[in-house]
Amino acid sequence: MKIHHLNCGTDCPVGGALFDGKSAGPLATLVCHCLLIETDAHGLVLVDTGYGLRDVANPHGGRSERLPRPWRVMLNIRLRERETAIRQVEALGYHARDVSHIVVTHLDFDHAGGLEDFPHATVHVMQREYDDAAGPHRGFVARHRWRRPQFDDVRDWRRYGARGEGWYGFDAVRDLDGLPPEILMVPLPGHTWGHAGVAVRRDDGRWLLHAGDAYFYRGEMRRARRRCTPGLRAYQRLMESDATSRLTNQARLRALSIERRDEVSIACAHDPVELAHCQAGHPL
Ligand SMILES: [Zn+2]
Repeated sequence: MKIHHLNCGTDCPVGGALFDGKSAGPLATLVCHCLLIETDAHGLVLVDTGYGLRDVANPHGGRSERLPRPWRVMLNIRLRERETAIRQVEALGYHARDVSHIVVTHLDFDHAGGLEDFPHATVHVMQREYDDAAGPHRGFVARHRWRRPQFDDVRDWRRYGARGEGWYGFDAVRDLDGLPPEILMVPLPGHTWGHAGVAVRRDDGRWLLHAGDAYFYRGEMRRARRRCTPGLRAYQRLMESDATSRLTNQARLRALSIERRDEVSIACAHDPVELAHCQAGHPL
């Protein structure tokens, strides 16, 4: 299996290094790190989709609003057609129909925007995430984070309960419908109740865990003491559905990233430095 690391969306919130820990100017750069996996017998598999063509074409607009206005402003979202997953799939010489499966870590607006650009794909998600995203929604964040217009045209869902076999101390859902056993969902509730990571076994036997929004900053992994910028600390708190499970799962991931560094690489959805490392083929 060949794994491509794509950036399918860029956010530039005011705050610079207070968010991303590295920008010299007033604006930070955050990415939407998605995976495109070329499998031997199961077509192309996407992990998360970032923003999609319809977000780029029509981000606003009444009831069909695809991106939540307060977040468009807060994150200073840059919508670029060339960054959409579909355009990057095409740039690699494939067509939308070649993407047979999409596994989503969760259905927030910055992860689900490209789902409808792949009408032939089966979409895999935790049942709890689907239920919460479908609504009804209570509270300011819940009313904005999930955008029905981004996923109401999806025809083929596969939804999963939280129980499964063990994977490095986590419960993992194996046997995703139609996918090889090298691709697993690893429930990591906290950011949302139905949030999950996606583990992919590479040809060299090592695992890559796409941890979605289980953490946001590279300094939160691979070191005994968590380090996170103030901007991303605050953002994680704003967006969490449950603080205790978020912090517990994050600590478990941190321990895994240290104790099993030779076996498991962990990357989150929004850190630009992690993405650059992955794209360059450097170890995290
Ligand atoms: Zn996100």
